[in-house]
Amino acid sequence: SKTPVKVAVTGAAGQIGYSLLFRIASGALFGPDTPVELRLLEITPALGALEGVVMELDDCAFPTLAGVEIGDDANTIFDGANLALLVGARPRTKGMERGDLLEANGAIFTGQGKALNDNAADDIRIGVTGNPANTNALIAMTNAPDIPRERFSALTRLDHNRAISQLAAKTGASVTDITKMTIWGNHSATQYPDIFHAEIAGKNAAEVVGDQSWIENDFIPTVAKRGAAIIEARGSSSAASAASATIDAARDWLTGSKKDDWVSMAVVSDGSYGVPEGLISSFPVTTSGGSWEIVQGLEIDDFSRTKIDASTAELAEERDAVKELGLI
Ligand code: NDP
Repeated sequence: SKTPVKVAVTGAAGQIGYSLLFRIASGALFGPDTPVELRLLEITPALGALEGVVMELDDCAFPTLAGVEIGDDANTIFDGANLALLVGARPRTKGMERGDLLEANGAIFTGQGKALNDNAADDIRIGVTGNPANTNALIAMTNAPDIPRERFSALTRLDHNRAISQLAAKTGASVTDITKMTIWGNHSATQYPDIFHAEIAGKNAAEVVGDQSWIENDFIPTVAKRGAAIIEARGSSSAASAASATIDAARDWLTGSKKDDWVSMAVVSDGSYGVPEGLISSFPVTTSGGSWEIVQGLEIDDFSRTKIDASTAELAEERDAVKELGLI
């Protein structure tokens, strides 16, 4: 029998965790023939709730679930991990300034970066879902000097999937007809969903839509503010779709993006497209066997340039703020 893949998940007793764990355990990441061991991290007060989630995992009798380990010590939980999905983060609460948020998460992600550095398996890949995801990933990456920088990414796949869904609804195409969608920049309201390179059944998406005003005034804000719309409608934040995107991102990273297509991932910039080197910013990437490559040579018009620059300027501000706090 195969050795189980060790998947660590933080914030495992949270809302996203409640969807995510069952997908991973049922084989959505590695298929029906690869056993997985879940290694679940929570803060101490949430361990009781996490035990309840583990009871439910047991009760599913998933053939692919080889074992579950839970705890509140990152060094123990990340021991031997092949994939770490960092979902747990400190949410913004009322009256909290962005600086407070960065500081609270800084403590979490410096510690987790160090713990990954010291304990994870040599082939570790790290995906950050917890917000502010890009900057949390930057903090973890900087605090894990022995792990290659390209092993860290932050989630913009949900934005990518939302953009595909909106474009499909607008044009009547099916989601499978839409390729080469791109999210640029930060996973925040400044993100730039770009359809100028996207294709619908092989035709340029912006030309099929033929309506710049829809792109600017409808599509972009709808995608960027989708999270808030879901909170408004559902009374709590998106969780199942965030979990699904976390699965999509990890699966495609490890098994490869489709031919003649790409995915959006926030990864460390090498200066491509004028994004300052070292920021963790979303790009169009192709993936294969656990590696990613930024798609090169796309033409960026003035409209797109302004949007990309605005979002990467925000990332640079967040980086400067956490540098100021001594977190990186
Ligand atoms: P969720 O499971 O709903 O969300 C977890 C994180 O994912 C949040 O930072 C959230 O950001 C983020 N996120 C990213 N994309 C999305 C999206 N599209 N929609 C919604 N959220 C998104 O939060 P819960 O509060 O239910 O659970 C968090 C858990 O993490 C708690 O159980 C807590 O105890 C735990 N935790 C664990 C830590 C650890 O393991 N050391 C450290 C800190 C917390 P946003 O807040 O912006 O919505």
